[in-house]
Amino acid sequence: MGKPPRQAVILAGGLGTRLGALTRETPKPLLPVAGKPFLDYLLWNLKRHGFERVLFLLGYKAMRIIEHYGSGAGHGLADDAQRNTRLEVEYAVETEPMGTGGALRLAKDYLDERFLLLNGDTLFDFNYLDLALLEGPAAVALRRVPDTARYGRVRLEGNRIIGFGEKEGKGPGLINGGVHVLSRPAVELLPEGVSSLERDLFPRLVERGELLGKPYEGFFLDIGLPEAYTEAQKALPAWRKKPAVFLDRDGVLNHDEGYTHRPEQWRWTEGAVEAVKWLNDRGYLVLVITNQAGIARGYYTEEHFLQFTAWIHEQLRLAGAHLEATYYCPYHPQGLGPYRRDSEDRKPNPGMFLRAIADWQPDLSRSLAIGDKESDLQAAQAVGVRALRFAGGNLLRFVQDALSESGR
Ligand SMILES: [Mg+2]
Repeated sequence: MGKPPRQAVILAGGLGTRLGALTRETPKPLLPVAGKPFLDYLLWNLKRHGFERVLFLLGYKAMRIIEHYGSGAGHGLADDAQRNTRLEVEYAVETEPMGTGGALRLAKDYLDERFLLLNGDTLFDFNYLDLALLEGPAAVALRRVPDTARYGRVRLEGNRIIGFGEKEGKGPGLINGGVHVLSRPAVELLPEGVSSLERDLFPRLVERGELLGKPYEGFFLDIGLPEAYTEAQKALPAWRKKPAVFLDRDGVLNHDEGYTHRPEQWRWTEGAVEAVKWLNDRGYLVLVITNQAGIARGYYTEEHFLQFTAWIHEQLRLAGAHLEATYYCPYHPQGLGPYRRDSEDRKPNPGMFLRAIADWQPDLSRSLAIGDKESDLQAAQAVGVRALRFAGGNLLRFVQDALSESGR
């Protein structure tokens, strides 16, 4: 199975001519939406899926984007502080317009073996890691529209695309949603010079039977037209306010065998991986909130805990699922050295919930917390989040029942 990609490549070199005066000084992806650049929303979405590196393919007004994001260290992402994650930013700049295919080919030495490719002026939100589960040199996220005539129809047989960009025929159908998982061998098929992914690469891959596709139903917004850009001012902040599911770790995600801290001790609860993916597929933020007194007691170090947490996150990514973040409390009143203290973070205190809420700003009215102990429930209830006790069994079924009850 192909490894889930860590690199996202963003096409951000277009002229944005349809937006007229708006893009005279500012490249389209940098236009402000509710007070921050459109690209910030895109980067936030990539980070929460666990992407670590972004490569911008630039042309028009490239310096504006480079000056804004620099090496990616915090800038423009400051209000989305995500501890333990980073986003490195790189740039490839064309000196003359090369088209989407030409720009990608020009940057081929900077590409990972597999990467996510997306447009810098559209946001299509779905579980990107699910698309990465498709095996093959190239996979396209598809979107269902009432009339394909304007875009070019995509025909699908199973997961294989058998027709791409067909202009004939009207009515409902599938189109390219502008998010792709590509591999370097696919990029090698592009001709030298100016080329287009839509005209020169995807049809070629279809001929070879190598273009895969899957339809998704997530939030979609293209700021390329003036009315859509106006709509974005309200629609994007509303989209960004996602419901969250806060999960305790030991006894919820895994069988609690006491101070679990090594892969060989880890046993997933039945349905746990599926539960996380089910939530990812439906647009929930999934945040782990865990007391880690084992650090205070000296059973393992904080460094070791972070490495182990990265391993857990990676196991989920391999299954097409992801955790937005893991919050932990290393303190305990009977701990050792600097870890010996009362902490606002240690459940039943709500400190970790407060930090997670500040970082992610979820819609609490649609959020849910799941724990196996009374202290988990108390911490969640202290911040006004509905909390349920999980007493074992299948976590997927538990989550499905809990969220259908709430009328979703
Ligand atoms: Mg527990």
